[in-house]
Amino acid sequence: MSAEINIPYEPDENGHFGQFGGRYVAETLMPILIEVARSYEEMHGDDAFQQEFRRLLEVYVGRPSPLYLAERFSAAHGGGRIYFKREDLNHTGAHKINNTIGQALLARRMGKQRLMAETGAGQHGVATATAAALFGMECDVYMGTEDMRRQAPNVQRMEMLGARLVPVNSGTCTLKDAMSEALRAWVSTCVDTFYVIGSVAGPHPYPVMVRDFQRVIGDETREQILASEGRLPDQIIACVGGGSNAAGIFAAFLEDSVALIGVEAAGHGIASGEHAASIGAGRVGILHGTKSYVLQDDQGQILNAHSVSAGLDYPGVGPQHALWAERGRAEYCGITDEEAVAAFHEVTLLEGIIPALESAHAVAEAGKRGEQLGPEGLIVVNMSGRGDKDLDNVRDYEAGRDKGHA
Ligand SMILES: *Cc1c(COP(=O)(O)O)cnc(C)c1O
Repeated sequence: MSAEINIPYEPDENGHFGQFGGRYVAETLMPILIEVARSYEEMHGDDAFQQEFRRLLEVYVGRPSPLYLAERFSAAHGGGRIYFKREDLNHTGAHKINNTIGQALLARRMGKQRLMAETGAGQHGVATATAAALFGMECDVYMGTEDMRRQAPNVQRMEMLGARLVPVNSGTCTLKDAMSEALRAWVSTCVDTFYVIGSVAGPHPYPVMVRDFQRVIGDETREQILASEGRLPDQIIACVGGGSNAAGIFAAFLEDSVALIGVEAAGHGIASGEHAASIGAGRVGILHGTKSYVLQDDQGQILNAHSVSAGLDYPGVGPQHALWAERGRAEYCGITDEEAVAAFHEVTLLEGIIPALESAHAVAEAGKRGEQLGPEGLIVVNMSGRGDKDLDNVRDYEAGRDKGHA
């Protein structure tokens, strides 16, 4: 690979991935972001931190997560070999805990006693509240009032874990409003509070830091697939909301001839306008302090995203994905609500694994790709989370109500 393709994968010191990324925030937030970046850089190179992080991932999260050959699913889709990377088996049921433990360690190192987080569906809020309990920290979770209503079980979980919910009553009262409010509130609380962002989005250094914490997924996958198959996979497929589970698994394969495929939520179809395909149908813009592809109207107003899966329901995407898309290093495609729900049922019945609706988007794409590759194909799908949380969503979707996501 030429240097021209290689070098820009890492951002410059201000977090620019080519034209994307950066720190588009109020002046008052700059000093804390610079402090976080400096502390993170220090911590990243520190063996004691790396050891403690690995130890917690092992004894608390349950890593390494298995790489599972889904034989019946493979046989139904081209007869090749399709593996699932089982992030669904992690403590709290998804990949998000890898990141919140990493950021909580950084918060502790920086002497902060309190964590804050934004959440949409509640999954990142739960993962942050979990890390806060583990480290004996306080935790404030910013959540839109509409999301609080439709994600009541996760609100209860966070409260049980000792977190304080901060209801956000602006805009559409959903994730993007919660994150805007959290970034605003952080200015006045940053002396004792660390803001834990839930994906590879937001201002520098979050996109880099969150990718690095999630990279354990890719590093394990690489070792596991070499051990079981003696070669790297043809394709790696992951769903993309903000893009953290995808960035984490992609990061370990950037220099290899492995096709990297990100699957966005196409909702009711791109043409319907009701989707969450920021790369597939968005334009370059600024959201939550970073420049990337964003769903916006002609006036630059941020549009609401739609997906049957709440975790993909974000109108932006991490800036490094924007760069990978622009440079052709990764390919991005869309899976509709209908296709994702069909894959959810299929993999449940064929494999006895109930996937998160987010992950079901990646599985649906893997089925199509498996058929194209045929018996020689070797695919890894990132099974980002488990679907116990989605049983009501699926039932409501099938009852035609599509609760709260219209
Ligand atoms: C939150 C979530 C996602 C989407 O977030 P990314 O940052 O794109 O990974 C995907 N899958 C599950 C199970 C989630 O909880």
